[in-house]
Amino acid sequence: CLYNELIELKGNIRVFCRCRPLNPEEASKGYSSVLELDPSQDMELQIVCTDSSRKKFRFDHVFGPLDNQEAVFAETLPVVRSALDGYNVCIFAYGQTGTGKTYTMEGTSEDRGVNYRALGELFQSSMERCSTMKYEFSISMLEVYNEKIRDLLAENSDQHAKKLEIKQTADGTQDVPGLVEAPVNSVDEVWSMLKTGGRNRSVGSTNANELSSRSHCLVRVIIKSENMLNGHQCRSNMWLVDLAGSERVGKIEVEGERLKESQFINKSLSALGDVISALASRNPHIPYRNSKLTHLLQSSLGGDCKTLMFVQISPSTADLGETLCSLNFASRVR
Ligand code: ADP
Ligand code: MG
Repeated sequence: CLYNELIELKGNIRVFCRCRPLNPEEASKGYSSVLELDPSQDMELQIVCTDSSRKKFRFDHVFGPLDNQEAVFAETLPVVRSALDGYNVCIFAYGQTGTGKTYTMEGTSEDRGVNYRALGELFQSSMERCSTMKYEFSISMLEVYNEKIRDLLAENSDQHAKKLEIKQTADGTQDVPGLVEAPVNSVDEVWSMLKTGGRNRSVGSTNANELSSRSHCLVRVIIKSENMLNGHQCRSNMWLVDLAGSERVGKIEVEGERLKESQFINKSLSALGDVISALASRNPHIPYRNSKLTHLLQSSLGGDCKTLMFVQISPSTADLGETLCSLNFASRVR
């Protein structure tokens, strides 16, 4: 709303790759790293394949095992700031389970991730602009599991179970009627709210980790602003999305509930890939309606919205196949 820059559509989609460190368990099993980085440039990586050949990939930025949360956020900052200027923003973490999607987005209490730092930046910058701008922030948190939407900030378990639907609003955007929108004023409030929401994710599941790898977790920050000089009002969304694990499930596991889950995940992740690549190639038809995930995000993907995708990978030789799949997926959307 503030600036009316003319930016190329493709310039609005950024893809970062982040590779986590090899962990002690992998090292003790004799797995080594397939990742080769050239310290003199931060946009490229090479993967050493089983036959020792190299596959090269280029991204807008590559973060290696030594890059910490602060370094990652420093590159994410411009996208976050544009949300304060009235742009709709979507930040995703994509990748195989165990590659650091939750670490990047949520982080740990010692090493907080993008979600927390982004909110911190919003509060900080809004205070710096307070002589001319008035801001209000609120948060929603939801889960998409088997194409069903659940409210993670709802007060009781009846409400968690309630199925939510996406509705088209009068101004042509999408909304989820009934979804909790909690006003927030400080980073501490945000952190405890995200923790509560995270706990609600695992209700009804025996293994929280398992469930989180099979559902998408979305945090929506609504930013309302008013320019006190000219009365101009603006509303934008920032979506922070921890996607379901992108791994293909083994043939033996594929039956019953697990089969259904993996079909839903495949469908929604490929729908997301289709939408982003259609946007990047300026295809006039953008297939938003093919999944709940893309339908929810419709008004925050495309147009002059800013999209940032983290492609998370493992360095381990044991994960080479999945790593190549994720890198190929990411190259398709770039
Ligand atoms: P995912 O959400 O993709 O399944 P997690 O975020 O749970 O993966 O990460 C798996 C494990 O690896 C966690 O113990 C996490 O703390 C650790 N981890 C992931 N990325 C990093 C990193 N860049 N540096 C240090 N530890 C990491
Ligand atoms: Mg996770």
